Amino acid sequence: MIPYGRQNITDADIAAVVETLASDFLTQGPRVAEFEQAFADYVGARYAVACANGTAALHLCTLALGVNEESRVITTPITFVASANCVRYCGGEVAFSDIDPETALLDIDKVRQMLESKPRGYYSGLIPVDFAGNPVNLEAFRKLADEHGLWIIEDACHAPGGYFIDSQGEKQHCGNGKYADLSIFSFHPVKHIATGEGGMVTTNDERLYKELLRLRTHGITRDPQEMEENHGGWYMEMQELGYNYRIPDMLCALGISQLNRAEAGLARRRGIARVYDKAFDGIEGIGLLKTTPAALGTDEETGHAYHLYVIQVADRRGLYDYLREHGIFAQVHYIPAHLMPYYRDLGYKKGDFPEAEDYYAGCLSLPMYPTLTQEEQEYVIEKVKEFVG
Ligand SMILES: *Cc1c(COP(=O)(O)O)cnc(C)c1O
Repeated sequence: MIPYGRQNITDADIAAVVETLASDFLTQGPRVAEFEQAFADYVGARYAVACANGTAALHLCTLALGVNEESRVITTPITFVASANCVRYCGGEVAFSDIDPETALLDIDKVRQMLESKPRGYYSGLIPVDFAGNPVNLEAFRKLADEHGLWIIEDACHAPGGYFIDSQGEKQHCGNGKYADLSIFSFHPVKHIATGEGGMVTTNDERLYKELLRLRTHGITRDPQEMEENHGGWYMEMQELGYNYRIPDMLCALGISQLNRAEAGLARRRGIARVYDKAFDGIEGIGLLKTTPAALGTDEETGHAYHLYVIQVADRRGLYDYLREHGIFAQVHYIPAHLMPYYRDLGYKKGDFPEAEDYYAGCLSLPMYPTLTQEEQEYVIEKVKEFVG
């Protein structure tokens, strides 16, 4: 069977974990900081905070930014529900906004209309998602956010290694902290870098960085400079209500080892995408998403990180079932978040975001992972064309 995504664990990965298992630290050891530094270097950010998973990373961000019952935060319905749920964890309101049908990314013009229809201060933040690995043009979103006094959390779970070219002609990697206040990543096995469970927040903001570190460990500080009192070497202070959102040393060892191969994996994903592009180009009945213009780069190279390769067809259910019968486990990303019973209970309904709902009706993610072989990909293409044709 061929899944839509799968992790790749090598002997070096296994050795790295085993070495940590035999060391003095299973949880908060040297690998945590090492992974954070390596990841920060990889995406070009000043600070990185590793944590339990991508959802914990999102929650740490909304906590650090002070989201509360008065907050209204704009995000896309075409994402994993965690992008929205992190606002609800803090009691805030999720304000969904429709997608651009060409890219399935949050439509900046619609966000602008929303912001302009309310007084300044009505909304407090934006959570754009680099959906499928296609980078959001964060320079444009930053400009809009600044005009309206909003913060930005970039959900970059699909896009480690992705980038766009900004108006100065400079490469801006997803999560590099230049335009977003905070960016988050996940190391779930279907993502580019796998640690089992795992997540990361990146930022260039030192104040937010320190806040994330405290919140990750119960709101506790051990830094004498930050404490109100000091009774001796054992002393620490819990200064606010935090959580245990730590990631174990063992998993960070796996993350470091995986990160060493991230660029090769990314190159392979892009290669697979080119083959699909060519195979489906001009085929009637198959729609393809467009890459953000700024992420196309300056030549053939692309900044798209291809977590997913999405096609759009009229009979999606038929194609999904047909592929399964032939051992190909394609997947749907995503059921619009506003149509989940939980969000319907909060007042959302069918028809609220027609572009997202149209997109959902036809989308299917085909197998996309570095170890997908050429033969397997050819078989997938053949079966898709067979059904559509
Ligand atoms: C995977 C994912 C998450 C959540 O990450 P977990 O590590 O599974 O908690 C959040 N947002 C997006 C877009 C994701 O793909």
